[in-house]
Amino acid sequence: MSDYFKSTPDAAGQFGEFGGSFIPPDLQVEMDKITDAYYRISKSHAFISELRSIRKHFQGRPTPVYYCQRLSDLLGGRIYLKREDLNHTGAHKLNHCMGEALLAKHMGKKRLIAETGAGQHGVALATAAAYFGLECEIHMGEVDIAKEHPNVVRMKILGAEVVPVSHGLKTLKEAVDSAFQSYLKDPVNTIYCIGSVVGPHPFPMMVREFQRVVGIEAREQFMEMTGELPDNVVACVGGGSNAMGIFSAFLEDEECSLYGVEPAGRSYEIGEHACTMKFGKPGVIHGFKCQMLQDEAGEPAPVYSVASGLDYPGVGPEHCMLQSNGRVSYVDANDEQTIDAFYKLSRLEGIIPALESAHAVAYAMRLAQEKPRQSILVNLSGRGDKDIDFVVDKFGLPEDQ
Ligand SMILES: *Cc1c(COP(=O)(O)O)cnc(C)c1O
Repeated sequence: MSDYFKSTPDAAGQFGEFGGSFIPPDLQVEMDKITDAYYRISKSHAFISELRSIRKHFQGRPTPVYYCQRLSDLLGGRIYLKREDLNHTGAHKLNHCMGEALLAKHMGKKRLIAETGAGQHGVALATAAAYFGLECEIHMGEVDIAKEHPNVVRMKILGAEVVPVSHGLKTLKEAVDSAFQSYLKDPVNTIYCIGSVVGPHPFPMMVREFQRVVGIEAREQFMEMTGELPDNVVACVGGGSNAMGIFSAFLEDEECSLYGVEPAGRSYEIGEHACTMKFGKPGVIHGFKCQMLQDEAGEPAPVYSVASGLDYPGVGPEHCMLQSNGRVSYVDANDEQTIDAFYKLSRLEGIIPALESAHAVAYAMRLAQEKPRQSILVNLSGRGDKDIDFVVDKFGLPEDQ
């Protein structure tokens, strides 16, 4: 492997023109401390061996790669899944939460703090906090608290404090502001844990490094199963952490086509989708520069996705660079294709996917029809238990449609 991971991002946290750090000076001081600690601690033997043991004994890694025989027979191409739905807590997010929490422990921190939208990141972080015996404070908009009741209960069972945010639109953006404010009140004892490959440096780099395990395992497992590399690798993109995790192992395999799948929602009208790569323009959001869906005033535009983990108007800076240099293609799947994939995978393979992951499956199904001789490795980022009531209420069962 060349030195891509050592030189990307650069020392300032830049991925080409994207990334960096655009935050107030007092917060910058804290980010610099996290960056220093990350470089010092995460390369140590003690850190690496503890994380390896956690992944094996607590998370249940390695997660398998699975060949979808019946789905492949139906469509043409050969579809394989990297089963992150089988990672503890049912999604890939725990990979970076355990890494961030282990770093916090080594830094002598007592408390983890984060915001959450749909609650998936909050639950993963509350899990990590319970494991390490750290306090956990999750900021969440009141609107989201009402909508995502089961995840709020999970966080409380795990011992986290859920802080309701009642100003503005009472959703994710206000929760971010509230979490940052609380963090700045006690940065000595607290660490802020971001939920994807977004935010100011060092988070896009750090979260990618903790998610690389997905790609490293999958590449080896796929080679062992088939004797070759996959022709195509597909992952959904919200902030982009599960996609960076799997893409990272294939970046230098030029013969592998890489596809990041964004949610096309109900239409390409503004407010009806979250296709940041397709329609975004460079801008600054949450302390970093990326492609961003913007309104006329340059503010983050309203976004929609049927999968709450994908509705973000920005995207990780490394993805923006990988789009600019042409290494990764960013494509999309709409609600209808996603729901079709959700049911097809459930009924043909016995796997109910998260709605986020179903976007990647939907695009893989399209590729399998277009390229019947090729193999397609999909990162199945999470399981769909959280989505079942919503899908059946809103879209009905296939026989009702
Ligand atoms: C949060 C989430 C995503 C989106 O986040 P990324 O950072 O883009 O990976 C995708 N899938 C699942 C199951 C999630 O919970």
